[in-house]
Amino acid sequence: MDYPGNLFVVAAPSGAGKSSLVKALLELDARVQPSVSHTTRAPRGQEKHGREYFFVAPAEFDQMVLGDGFLEWAHVHGQRYGTSKKAIEERIATGSDVILEIDFQGALQIKRIFANSVLIFILPPSWEELRSRLERRGEDAPEVIELRLANAAEEMKQAQEFDFVIINELFDRALFDLKAIVHAQRLKFSAQRRARADTFKALNIT
Ligand code: GDP
Ligand code: ADP
Ligand code: 5GP
Repeated sequence: MDYPGNLFVVAAPSGAGKSSLVKALLELDARVQPSVSHTTRAPRGQEKHGREYFFVAPAEFDQMVLGDGFLEWAHVHGQRYGTSKKAIEERIATGSDVILEIDFQGALQIKRIFANSVLIFILPPSWEELRSRLERRGEDAPEVIELRLANAAEEMKQAQEFDFVIINELFDRALFDLKAIVHAQRLKFSAQRRARADTFKALNIT
């Protein structure tokens, strides 16, 4: 499927810093828009319906699955998460860049649908740091943290399927790397020809 906007897909084990990095990117770059997923998990402290997620009951999630409302969905950490078609199709068709923060199973499904999507995996610098970030975040119960750490080993093995890898040790360095990936996509020949059509025409480049 061809589309004018870039589709960035970011995955990481829980606690690697994916949401913090994406949030910082969105604040810096108004041309990138987030996709808000649906989930069956309960909201954490400051999370708001429609902002971080659409928080829905399992029955409502089932209805969306049956109604073919999801581009992809997956079981993650004992809950279900999905990207609704509405969340992205309209936007990439009109040329916006869209960023998805989803798990690796969803990322690989998206790559099959949109071959040009850009898959980015965020790694923590070490196991110790991953655990301490989950503990410091203080949003998940201890047994939830253990489940997320137990799942991290399998998730990180999937990094090899991704186009890019960022190690989030120093936050600003990792953000710089993320910005570089976004910027590089916009410099691709096909993107430049589209964005700078007048210049290309004037220079007789087809
Ligand atoms: P490298 O460190 O040798 O790969 O050289 P780079 O040119 O990639 O970056 C040099 C340093 O400047 C790195 O530590 C970057 O993190 C930092 N840097 C460059 N641009 C930015 C920026 O826009 N924001 C931040 N926070 N750091 C930047
Ligand atoms: P994820 O979305 O991958 O689960 P978060 O963005 O919620 O991860 O980050 C997990 C915790 O680690 C948060 O408390 C965040 O502030 C912190 N964090 C993120 N990146 C760094 C970093 N480079 N150094 C130290 N702490 C970080
Ligand atoms: P959290 O509960 O920490 O916000 O997210 C847990 C995991 O679910 C993360 O790996 C996150 O990327 C993933 N996730 C969030 N939204 C979606 C989605 O729409 N689809 C899929 N497949 N995974 C998602």
